[in-house]
Amino acid sequence: DRSLDRSRALLDRARQVIPGAAQTNSKGPTRWVQGVAPTHLERGQGSHVWDVDGNEYIDHVSSLGPIVLGHDYPAVTEAVEAQVGDGSLFSLPHPLQVEVAERIVDVVPCAEMVRFAKNGNDVTTAAAKLARAHTGRDVVATQGYHGWGDVWMAATAMDAGIPAAVGGLTEPFDYNDIERVEAIFDDHPDDVAAVVTTPVNLDPPEDEFLTRLRELCDEHDALLVYDEVLTGFRFALGGAGEFFGVQPDLACFAKAMANGYPLAALAGRADVMRTIDGEGFFFSSTYAGDAVSLAAANATLSVLREVPVVEHLHEQGEALRDGYTERAAAHGLGKVTTARGYAPRSAVSFESAGGASARHCKSLFLQECLDRGVLFAGTHLPNYSHTDADVARTLTVYDEALGVLAAAIEDGAVTDRLRGEPVGATLRERTGEAGGDR
Ligand code: PMP
Repeated sequence: DRSLDRSRALLDRARQVIPGAAQTNSKGPTRWVQGVAPTHLERGQGSHVWDVDGNEYIDHVSSLGPIVLGHDYPAVTEAVEAQVGDGSLFSLPHPLQVEVAERIVDVVPCAEMVRFAKNGNDVTTAAAKLARAHTGRDVVATQGYHGWGDVWMAATAMDAGIPAAVGGLTEPFDYNDIERVEAIFDDHPDDVAAVVTTPVNLDPPEDEFLTRLRELCDEHDALLVYDEVLTGFRFALGGAGEFFGVQPDLACFAKAMANGYPLAALAGRADVMRTIDGEGFFFSSTYAGDAVSLAAANATLSVLREVPVVEHLHEQGEALRDGYTERAAAHGLGKVTTARGYAPRSAVSFESAGGASARHCKSLFLQECLDRGVLFAGTHLPNYSHTDADVARTLTVYDEALGVLAAAIEDGAVTDRLRGEPVGATLRERTGEAGGDR
């Protein structure tokens, strides 16, 4: 039996001093089955992580995407250790800044110039501001999650603290809803600065959606911006722009580029990027040039070029996604749960069954996974360290956990067999967006 004593004690302490306790990265604890899931992790090696009570898990979360090679990946750790010995932040750029920028220009089709920052939100927000400055227009049409900034959250149910005057300039649309995008252009003639979109979520583009976005932006002199924070260096070396073959004017990268070290990049067309140098435009970040993260990115991008990381993510991701769906069907749960999405990022979804809500069914499944050493919150983000043995073990665990769920549904006992709090609404459910959580 897993002990969670230290996890529980740490959460109690965290609740006293940290609002949204345990929310140290972009998601809070309610995506986990509280009381059953560990609350703090303290070590990672390859594809495995350890919680504060010493329990070991196969990690399918990959820190929500940044871990693309694996935890403590040797080439990255060595580069970081070497840089730490030389210092991390200087009063002038470190040479690694230009080297990493050149690497990105080399592999990302739309990237002619690159600016660094720290978080995904930094560069998505910078892209919106840059598009507004470059076009002299105000409206941003947007789909997908791009961070906590006003321009993004204004159009969601989580808009507390955002002035209506600011929020009124954000126009939301759903992925694949090209008619809505056309209507936004019609409603704001000559005032749409940019269409900002994740290139894909879980469901594939329909009816040449990305091509149509590209055409609409060209027709109306607006910029097309891809938020590649999740897809960059994961779907393909050149991101989803390369994967789908439709190029944006600007693209935002963060997660996979430095294998867990904090670094983000805004990249794109040189004439647009040069607006950053223009009169009155300001974009600045003290830590953007941190050489330790740049060393991590340099090593990560070098490994991504040299070994078939992206192919591995596709293979392992496909095995996990399809293996899940097959096992669910074999347990007679084909109508209750399936996995969908692209192999580098797929998600499972649940329906209510046996008198229990979808969230209760999902929670019982996740509980049984955790008990068997699989850290999974509903989204698979494979990394290069996931071995065939990890995948095989995970699928065995899925088989057992789905078996427990099927029996509980049969007995009308899903809620009874859940030892913790059911998972809360996902961020997407809370913001009213469709598709899997991220
Ligand atoms: N865009 C996408 C597609 C993301 O998944 C995220 C993070 N979940 C962000 C932007 C925001 O990145 P960050 O949390 O680093 O600000």
